Amino acid sequence: MSILKIAKIGHPVLFKEADTVNSISKAEIKKLVMDMSETLLDANGIGLAAPQVYVSKKIIIFRLDEESQINNKVKIRVLVNPSFKNKGKEYEEDWEGCLSIPGMIGKVKRFKNIIYQGYDLKGRLIKEDASGIQARVIQHECDHLNGILYTSKLVDPKYFGFADEIRNSIKNEKE
Ligand code: ZN
Repeated sequence: MSILKIAKIGHPVLFKEADTVNSISKAEIKKLVMDMSETLLDANGIGLAAPQVYVSKKIIIFRLDEESQINNKVKIRVLVNPSFKNKGKEYEEDWEGCLSIPGMIGKVKRFKNIIYQGYDLKGRLIKEDASGIQARVIQHECDHLNGILYTSKLVDPKYFGFADEIRNSIKNEKE
């Protein structure tokens, strides 16, 4: 396994629609997913999409929330050709970051509850519900596959900036 270089905002690979994966069992895809997992853990991220490591294919990975973890081990879910639908009509606005936009965060409106689906590495269909942060991560990663970064979805342009500045100002407002 190896740690891959992460594409940063400005690189065209992040603004392109990714290709659908036709054969899931390919050794090449398995290796890519292993490397993406190692890269995600190394960067201390929650989710990663293949275009972020310069591979324009419809593959995302993300950490499953704590309830889904076994023996405190981080569980990473792989989804090939993923998609999602909103479940209910609730939205949530919250801050999010992206490994391709290091040090910065922005406030984005997302569906609160979703049903997502995709294929695992054995080609089995996964179909599950997600809500809150987990739903947010999946929506964020699926956007990457369509060449969309969260910076184009900000609830307000002023709700974007360096994480330390924003955290400081939120703290000062509360005091
Ligand atoms: Zn991202």
